[in-house]
Amino acid sequence: MQITLVVADITDQVVDAVVNAANSSLLGGGGVDGAIHRRGGPQILEACRALRAGHLGGGLPTGQAVATTAGDLKARWVIHTVGPVYSRADDRSQLLASCYRESLCVADDLEASTVAFPAISAGVYGWPADDAARIAVSTVRATASDVDEVRFVLFSQTMYDHFAEALGG
Ligand code: ADP
Repeated sequence: MQITLVVADITDQVVDAVVNAANSSLLGGGGVDGAIHRRGGPQILEACRALRAGHLGGGLPTGQAVATTAGDLKARWVIHTVGPVYSRADDRSQLLASCYRESLCVADDLEASTVAFPAISAGVYGWPADDAARIAVSTVRATASDVDEVRFVLFSQTMYDHFAEALGG
């Protein structure tokens, strides 16, 4: 598996699957989530509502992942995953690692060969950027998957630099 880094908007990516840093309601939010629903159109929300009406009645638990259509995005699927809210008192690193692992597992089920990830939990959920990058890179590296390319799509040069450091270290 190849790991690549780019400073870009994840909603512009031409990949098989785009990972969404969703919240457990799956009904939309700010940040990446808002951008994906805006650009992807109403089909994504419709698919999320159907999941909530079915086996995800209580919402998607933190650390887990589920796929829907990507609507009007250039990708084929959106893989929604719920990152943990950062806490200094409580080590939630395993939940953040689980987001990357579970998303790759869903990507394998879909036979996706290219997957774009944002910096999960590193926005509104408050995870320190250097640690979020380290967990992202080390987890993806340690996960066995048939995905050919994992592309981390970072929204700022600063976040890119944190990922570059994690990749080089
Ligand atoms: P979380 O709630 O998991 O923290 P956010 O969406 O608030 O998720 O932020 C996660 C990361 O994604 C942050 O680094 C944020 O700057 C970045 N981000 C926000 N919008 C986009 C976008 N359109 N493409 C790529 N990254 C984005």
